[in-house]
Amino acid sequence: MAIRNIRTEGDEILRKKCKEVTGLTPKITTLIEDMVETMYDANGVGLAAPQVGILKRIVVIDAGEGLHVLINPVILETDGEQTGGEGCLSVPGKTATVTRPNYVKVKALDREMKEFVLEGTELLARAICHECDHLEGVLYVDKAESPIMDSEAYYEKYKEENE
Ligand code: ZN
Repeated sequence: MAIRNIRTEGDEILRKKCKEVTGLTPKITTLIEDMVETMYDANGVGLAAPQVGILKRIVVIDAGEGLHVLINPVILETDGEQTGGEGCLSVPGKTATVTRPNYVKVKALDREMKEFVLEGTELLARAICHECDHLEGVLYVDKAESPIMDSEAYYEKYKEENE
């Protein structure tokens, strides 16, 4: 396994649409392992393949309750909404307010290319939406409802609303 270089905003690859994974290859398996390692190393909640420069529909997420690997994820259902601070490893050190569904149901393939369904609320729902957006070339800054601020300053300013 290896830690890969995380692409940052301004890199064109983050704006491209990703292609479906059609089969497991050693290359894909290594990519997933590296994405997991890279996400944990950067203390991220999620990471999408384009963030390490690969235009494939793969995301990894750990919102604090365990690792999820989603290949070719498709959001099936959303419900409710949550408004709060959001950040991205590709926009390091920054945070802005984004409204997301509070519940998300997604189907995807696992690391054996078997289909499964994942349901998430709160942070997991936010992460699923954020990472799936990456596969379409969309960054959270496109959806920000506040200025994009240094994270520390953001949480100081919006502390009361986030409590
Ligand atoms: Zn991101």
